[in-house]
Amino acid sequence: MVKSENIIADFIILGGGASGLSAAVAAAEKGASTIIIEKRGALGGNAIMAGGIFAAESPTQKRLKIDLRKDECFRTAMNHSHWKINPYIIRTFIDKSGDTIKWLENKGLNFVPFIEPIAGQGGFHLPTGAGIGLVKHLTDECKKLGVNILLHTDVKKINSRTKGELFLIEAKSNEIDITLKSRSILIATGGYGGNKEMLKKYCLDYRDNMTCYGVPNNGDGISLAMALGADTAGLGILHMAGPTLPKSIVLNINNEPNVVRVQLSAIILEPNTVWVNKRGKRFTDESIGYNHFGSANTVVIQPDNESFTVFDNNIVNGWIENGFILGMGGPMGLQGKTLHGLATALQEHVKRGWVNIANKWDEIAEWMGADPQILESTISKYNSDCENRYDTLFNKNPKYLLPLLTPPFYAVKARADFLSTIGGIKINEYMEVLDKKDIPIPGLYAAGVDTGGWNSDTYNGLLPGNAFGFSVNSGRIAGENAAKYALELKSI
Ligand SMILES: Cc1cc2nc3c(=O)[nH]c(=O)nc-3n(C[C@H](O)[C@H](O)[C@H](O)COP(=O)(O)OP(=O)(O)OC[C@H]3O[C@@H](n4cnc5c(N)ncnc54)[C@H](O)[C@@H]3O)c2cc1C
Repeated sequence: MVKSENIIADFIILGGGASGLSAAVAAAEKGASTIIIEKRGALGGNAIMAGGIFAAESPTQKRLKIDLRKDECFRTAMNHSHWKINPYIIRTFIDKSGDTIKWLENKGLNFVPFIEPIAGQGGFHLPTGAGIGLVKHLTDECKKLGVNILLHTDVKKINSRTKGELFLIEAKSNEIDITLKSRSILIATGGYGGNKEMLKKYCLDYRDNMTCYGVPNNGDGISLAMALGADTAGLGILHMAGPTLPKSIVLNINNEPNVVRVQLSAIILEPNTVWVNKRGKRFTDESIGYNHFGSANTVVIQPDNESFTVFDNNIVNGWIENGFILGMGGPMGLQGKTLHGLATALQEHVKRGWVNIANKWDEIAEWMGADPQILESTISKYNSDCENRYDTLFNKNPKYLLPLLTPPFYAVKARADFLSTIGGIKINEYMEVLDKKDIPIPGLYAAGVDTGGWNSDTYNGLLPGNAFGFSVNSGRIAGENAAKYALELKSI
């Protein structure tokens, strides 16, 4: 077994995802010798799968004449959380966000204009190549700046030390034990979406039938920080989405001359459908799917975290002729486009168990495991509400009220899932890790979804892109501050 104690750096980063890469570039730009330790064989983490990042008052918005003020976003974030999050962290994040777009643009990354259908506020910045584009860009910057990247390297222990001394990190790199020393450390290991024990222990919303869409991170960084005396904040939040289905369940719609690939989950969010639980009861205004993070909350509290989106042939024909209304889960611009092969594509999913098609509601109820009388009474009430143009239960906008009268009838099974966890390590607005007395642990920083205090129990869809956005911004801020700390320490 090889032991090396020669590796010393100003700044060592655990995790090479959105926040780790941003921190590495920011610290190396300030002159700090920087190492990224990444457990997997590739950099990027969940950022590889992400779309856009949130920002306010950015140069991109200025060019597009989108007037989204930082003050307004600060207020939105605080109100959304009922002021249960740390206003200093939010202020710092939002104030930095526009400048971070400039920072990235100056490195050659472009952002394409994109007005999100969910909230429509214009805060969502989609980089060229989406998350992969951003990761590639930051990785190239790291290489240019001489950041040392250790892949396949897993940190086992960080030894506590007194102020002014070096951190000692014990890790396994490609099956070889190594030790590293550093003046400052960033924990950025992306949460614990793959750790069932932690999910069950901390997340009240976690259910056994949930899938984590993202990288199955293990919570390593949170455990290491706790072992160093860190306090926790916001531990137990899931970045949920729903109703949803595994992303691999795709409709191949033969739309001559092209085949359009759309995730089946696109259909289950359409606002003119009806959502029922496995008892056959409707449970929400279905247009809540415009914010499918909020709508996940309506699903997760249903029996067995199961929902069924039901519709009739008339609605299918409407999608065939006019395309989807919301159109999530596929290529952009599905709204208003004909989808000729949709009915056949839906039929193909019947044998896979996600879709049922029948001429009578009691057959649909039997497939769902619901009492047929309850389902029929739900549909009959909804149909009479449609006739009266008033949703007596949930006041859905009348423009989405279409009666379900024309067989065949359809049901698609869904549930709430999650992208990753959010929350864990308590930090302040400098991304310094705080101990149980609320005092910063010198030289120890944390960023991204390993940290808490910036997101309440539900992901804030009103500031779209804020998880990726917070990760990039908190990483950048942590990198700047860690470099400053380390270089001052070195000069003593
Ligand atoms: C499908 C999908 C789509 C998404 N789309 C969006 C979006 O459009 N907008 C948005 O705001 N958010 C989105 N997100 C969320 C966003 O990707 C994350 O919030 C963000 O990537 C978190 O950044 P992070 O640095 O905290 O973690 P990550 O980016 O996950 O990085 C963590 C890194 O740490 C590494 N690691 C883990 N353990 C260790 C260890 N012990 N030692 C060393 N390295 C370790 C991991 O391998 C990983 O590379 C999406 C997520 C998913 C899954």
